[in-house]
Amino acid sequence: MSEFRPSLHELLEEVSACRACAGSLPHEPRPVLRVSGTARLLIVGQAPGRLVHETGIPWNDPSGRRLRQWLDMSDQAFYDISRVAIVPIGMCYPGTVDGADLPPRRECAPLWHARIGQLLGEVRLTLLVGSYAHAFHLGERRKRGMTETVAAHEEYLPAYLPLPHPSWRNTGWLKRNPWFESGLLPALRDRVRAALG
Ligand code: SF4
Repeated sequence: MSEFRPSLHELLEEVSACRACAGSLPHEPRPVLRVSGTARLLIVGQAPGRLVHETGIPWNDPSGRRLRQWLDMSDQAFYDISRVAIVPIGMCYPGTVDGADLPPRRECAPLWHARIGQLLGEVRLTLLVGSYAHAFHLGERRKRGMTETVAAHEEYLPAYLPLPHPSWRNTGWLKRNPWFESGLLPALRDRVRAALG
């Protein structure tokens, strides 16, 4: 018996209606993602922050501005849904405690990432942005910590490229690890340009 596989449109309708962790969220679920069957670059982030939750636009915040700077991409190129897919580990804003965003809901990625990935047939490169994305997609292949995983990025190519999260909280990390901007960013930009063709 052949396995039923929904179209991307049908799957997106399912995601939009998801209430798997509704009881644990401080608001109605509002999954924020952008996908198309033609995207060549997939960006896997952490979870929407409050601004992203309110606007429904992923990476529509200071972290997103820094990420676009790292990628050397204009807003227009970054938000070209025909070329760039964006799927966070937790697709709904998880809320905050003491001013800090909570981790992505753990129910989300196991429920949705493989199913979405099956319908993104043209993706050439997946950027794993932050530790939660490293953990879910690299599993036992990731290193002891975020820094070691990013430093070992060549091991995961050509499919994956792990990055730190571009949050202001990592500004100190960026200062302590100048190799990231001097060495990895040029390589990242080359890879992204090649993936987008
Ligand atoms: S975070 Fe993910 S699993 Fe939870 S309600 Fe939103 S879409 Fe569903």
